[in-house]
Amino acid sequence: MAVLVQKYGGSSVATTDRIKKVAARVSRSQEEGYQVVVVVSAMQGMTDRLIAMAKEIMPIPTEREMDMLLSTGEQITIALTAMALHAQGVPAVSLTGAQAGILTDGVHTKARILNITPKQIYRFLDAGQVVIVAGFQGRTPEGHITTLGRGGSDLTAIALAAALKAELCQIYTDVDGVYTADPRVAPNARKLDEISYDEMLELAGSGAKVMQLRSVEFAKKFGVVFEVRSSMNDNPGTIVKEEAKSMEDVVVRGVGLDKNQAKVTVEGVPDRPGKAAQIFSALARAAINVDMIVQNVSRAANHPVTDVSFTVDKADLPKALKVMEELKPQIGFESVDANEQIGKLSIVGVGMRGHSGVAARLFEILAREKINIEMISTSEIKVSVVIDRKRADEAARTVHAAFLE
Ligand code: ADP
Ligand code: ASP
Ligand code: MG
Repeated sequence: MAVLVQKYGGSSVATTDRIKKVAARVSRSQEEGYQVVVVVSAMQGMTDRLIAMAKEIMPIPTEREMDMLLSTGEQITIALTAMALHAQGVPAVSLTGAQAGILTDGVHTKARILNITPKQIYRFLDAGQVVIVAGFQGRTPEGHITTLGRGGSDLTAIALAAALKAELCQIYTDVDGVYTADPRVAPNARKLDEISYDEMLELAGSGAKVMQLRSVEFAKKFGVVFEVRSSMNDNPGTIVKEEAKSMEDVVVRGVGLDKNQAKVTVEGVPDRPGKAAQIFSALARAAINVDMIVQNVSRAANHPVTDVSFTVDKADLPKALKVMEELKPQIGFESVDANEQIGKLSIVGVGMRGHSGVAARLFEILAREKINIEMISTSEIKVSVVIDRKRADEAARTVHAAFLE
């Protein structure tokens, strides 16, 4: 029998009524003849509430205990979803990430999946049960509970689809699919029928939180084709798959906006070989992902110092500042400054490979609106700029209108 993996995000399981609706959809899929594995997230807002409580106790919470805490969110949902299926007469069983055989490394709050042993899952599927797995969590070989980074239930679903060789993997959320921009920011955004892994990767890395970045990396690596669709209706969603030739006809596939980054500027860094290596190795050791980096030209020839700016997730900012303070005596820089009032705007499309002048056009559009660019980075299929957060939404709409309307 073919296996179907369905993932329901926080908004799809936000209330017990919605959980009942999820159960009804799952039950229909089982009636269609599938062995169904359901991955659920914590109820909407739950993970944020748990994080806020932890921070009331300590500003940089102990990471092992953080995982112990955050994993409870998903554990509530799996039990309620299994009960909702029971109430509709469908045999179902809930499993934590550990029980489902999801083994991870020990990097708490951002663990990576090492492998999946789906013995238990198969046992229950073969007994005719729907299997409900807690998203976003796993366990280390030593038995510690871990979580997979924000939005990590997407990764649980994709990884299970790969491990179980699922025929279909559906990601149910609160929008009809992947749009040309966040529909909440750009009302004229259109739903895409399909998108390549590489474009989805760049959009996910540019703040389109509809899919977690790592889950898309995983899908690309293992060739998992998946569909992003709404749990509120039956509209067809967006298929995410390997690039097809025809996809290159579109220069810009989508606009991404990330308002969850912060810019850190290390001022007065001695302009000598090895200083950048020291800064970024220390951040890497603390498992902090750095996105954009800019180093200014040396300030004075007789006393060469420079400023180094980089961006990190806002959630990592306190940790990044602590790392920098600890490094200060070793590097001998002057000061550190943090700016949370930034937005990263990106345009993405595989068609950019064959077209020149796309970045120039983006800069012109922003110049016309008198929006200052603070940082720039590019890849073969993406151009990103850091701008003032206050003007970020407006900039996203203007850029969307210029390239996609
Ligand atoms: P879930 O709780 O189902 O995991 P998320 O909140 O993580 O859902 O992701 C869905 C949200 O992603 C949407 O409500 C939408 O506001 C946002 N989003 C950002 N960019 C995009 C995009 N390009 N296409 C669709 N949704 C997007
Ligand atoms: N509950 C987790 C989060 O809010 C995981 C997820 O929703 O995918 O990040
Ligand atoms: Mg999500």
